[in-house]
Amino acid sequence: MPLAVRTLLLLGSLAALVPGLLIPFVWRQVRSTPCLLTWGGGHLIGAIGLLIVLLRGPVPVGISIQLGNALLLLYHAALWSAARQFEGRRLLPLGMAAGPALWLLACQLPAFYASLGARVVLVSTIASAYSLAAAVELWHGRPERLPSRWFLIGLFLVLALYYAGQLLFGRALSIPDVTGLPPMLTVASSFLLLNLVKERSARQHQEEARLDPLTGVFNRRGFLEAAARCLTPRRWRDRAPTAAALLLMDLDHFKQINDRFGHAVGDRVLRLFAAVARAELAPGDVLGRLGGEEFAALLPGRGVPEAMAVADRIRRAFAQAGMTVEGCRVEARVSIGVAARRHDAGDGLQDLLREADAALYRAKANGRDRVEMLRAKAA
Ligand code: GH3
Ligand code: MG
Ligand code: MG
Repeated sequence: MPLAVRTLLLLGSLAALVPGLLIPFVWRQVRSTPCLLTWGGGHLIGAIGLLIVLLRGPVPVGISIQLGNALLLLYHAALWSAARQFEGRRLLPLGMAAGPALWLLACQLPAFYASLGARVVLVSTIASAYSLAAAVELWHGRPERLPSRWFLIGLFLVLALYYAGQLLFGRALSIPDVTGLPPMLTVASSFLLLNLVKERSARQHQEEARLDPLTGVFNRRGFLEAAARCLTPRRWRDRAPTAAALLLMDLDHFKQINDRFGHAVGDRVLRLFAAVARAELAPGDVLGRLGGEEFAALLPGRGVPEAMAVADRIRRAFAQAGMTVEGCRVEARVSIGVAARRHDAGDGLQDLLREADAALYRAKANGRDRVEMLRAKAA
């Protein structure tokens, strides 16, 4: 084997060894991401596989060819499996074993084993298929927008093409049996995977910071951001303000519920209200808990009559669901203030909130357990 090839193999092995040793170490700190362990373990296997290929001579040729390539194929299977795990899908041990097993079985056929061309074709096909499958796994997860995802998909596609190229031109190359990653791609792909994990974790933290842990709906900050986004036109064609309605909902005599039945039952009532309101709202409506026992919902595209109808459905559904909570006759109720902007009006979120607050005040003053809006605007 020419020196250049040995050098390349040694570099490849060392390049695989670094993520193989370091990424499992990162996994120890973020155990919720098993893909890191699979990725690291795969690289260790790949490093050993390349070493066995490299040491052809001291290692008997048959073992070097068969075991070396089987381990390298297992390494590709591990990268594909790590991509699956990153997408929250389970490992497929049979799928992982299939490639290396097929290779080892084929090697038992004397005609196949004697043909360098046939060996190159099989090993490159399997490696290319695993790389393509990894790209497809990551592609399926694209609704979760993570910038590094596209780079990693691109890298797996380059790899799939690289092995397909080896399949076509392998005979002309002096390294026909080698399916190890080019060292640069090993480093780049590991960097991208770590970045991907980091991007997901940052996104999760951002999302958690916008949610109310008790009810699972938006907290004040999340609601204000999401509602403002809904009211902002996204395209130049939508520049004219669209209709939208806002419901401000405050549970009635909630302090008494806490006092009579305890804080835990109070919490249960808050969760119940969020669930009842969510069930009555459309999927595109934004629901949030502004604080304490006050909730708000923004209904994009909805005018006054529809918003009043939705509010009344929420009020009645909650009065029914909140009758008895955890065996206590709680009789929870809600008052709702409604504000709506017409299609051609430019009221912003703060205008709607102010107006809904005045309507809610009126609902409380008029005896609670009711829906109100300001008459002047209703006309
Ligand atoms: P009104 O009908 O006028 O709205 O009266 P209210 O008793 O509902 O209103 P008030 O503002 O007097 O009381 C709100 C209560 O909500 C007081 C506070 O202890 C309670 N509260 C705020 N946050 C939570 C929470 O997270 N869990 C529970 N259980 N209670 C909460
Ligand atoms: Mg209240
Ligand atoms: Mg209140």
